[in-house]
Amino acid sequence: MSDSRLGAEVKIDFSRIKRDIAELSKIGRRSEVDPGLYRMAFTDADMEGKRWLLNRIEEADLLPVSDGAGNIFGKIIPEGPAAKKPSVLVGSHIDTVPCAGTLDGSLGVVIGLECLRAIRASGVPLARPLELVAFSDEEGRFGAMFGSEAFCGFISPSRLRERDLEGISLSEAMLSQGLDPSAALDAARPRGTVDSYLELHIEQGPVLDSAGEQVGIVENITGLFKWQVRLVGDANHAGTTPMEMRNDAFIGLADFAHEISRILEENGGEHSRATIGTAQILPGSANTVPGMVEFSLDVRDTSEAILEELKNAFRKALSAIARRRKLKFEFDELSSIKPIDADARLVENLEDCAKNLGLRYRRMPSGAAHDAQMLARIAPMGMIFTPSRGGRSHSPEEWTSWEDMEAGARLCLEVLLKRVQDPKDLI
Ligand SMILES: [Zn+2]
Repeated sequence: MSDSRLGAEVKIDFSRIKRDIAELSKIGRRSEVDPGLYRMAFTDADMEGKRWLLNRIEEADLLPVSDGAGNIFGKIIPEGPAAKKPSVLVGSHIDTVPCAGTLDGSLGVVIGLECLRAIRASGVPLARPLELVAFSDEEGRFGAMFGSEAFCGFISPSRLRERDLEGISLSEAMLSQGLDPSAALDAARPRGTVDSYLELHIEQGPVLDSAGEQVGIVENITGLFKWQVRLVGDANHAGTTPMEMRNDAFIGLADFAHEISRILEENGGEHSRATIGTAQILPGSANTVPGMVEFSLDVRDTSEAILEELKNAFRKALSAIARRRKLKFEFDELSSIKPIDADARLVENLEDCAKNLGLRYRRMPSGAAHDAQMLARIAPMGMIFTPSRGGRSHSPEEWTSWEDMEAGARLCLEVLLKRVQDPKDLI
């Protein structure tokens, strides 16, 4: 398609994608018997991954750059006035959670790299710069999306004091790798210099795989709120306190857990999710009536209005249960992130290209957070999902079939070609 239009051959070489995935999946292994990857942000393995990527970028005759947040770029800057136009960015991240699989983030970076290699080799004239990016610490060793947050200009010095689970601060981790942490504050890209951001990522859920579809076109990324809730009753002897005279905090939690599906039905939408992921019964002895329960509540939706409605409904339900069970309740809001939409023009572009390529696709929300969420606050954003076999992710089991990876790569290339040849800015 693009071939005949341009008179130049721009083609993905899928064997190079396969080779890159294989090479990158060797970086961050701890032992022969453990299939997981351990490439957490600013560890030696993560830095080795970044060096590997810089080598690939140089090999492909792209301009290698790393910024103060440790983000890695590979750029194609066209000649003349086009060099000054806002850039198209494509990428994701190569850091991992502990005991990770091989594709989360990395697939988007490897496919982005191949798209740039293909475009570079074809000599297709570009109307604007094109950049591959791998953002630092998407997975959250230090609070998640540090690289994209710095790139978008949203960090302050206090961010550098954030600590990982072992008590090491982000500053310390960067220093130990020879990086100057304060330089992260200079990583912000000036406003108006990013035309658009495209990210390909594995779905990390079962929807595409179970429907037999090859790609997902993300319409929006869910927002969420996270509460830490405490129900307080009276701890008492399990033998001597009659049932009707108890203020049993655990029964309050049980009541609440049962109400979740009703609340989602009445106040939620099609994409609402609510999860109690942790719970602690106190004082925690078998022969004591629970005096307190502390639990997490994680609620997600793609609509800000629905999230607000769910907040009210959960608060009301907790207060009614507390009254009925003679408990007190309180909660802290640990985080609250607004949902964000993909750019409607990019969604349309992606859909047109998917149709032209004859791909089986669907429009869908993203239930997981991504760098794209951060980028969408400063530039038009589009996302492509590839199917996760069995819906598995954050696990060595995570996989996408080669055919589906190739389908995602072809779609990514088509949309990038459209963007980099379009002299009209999206921003
Ligand atoms: Zn990811």
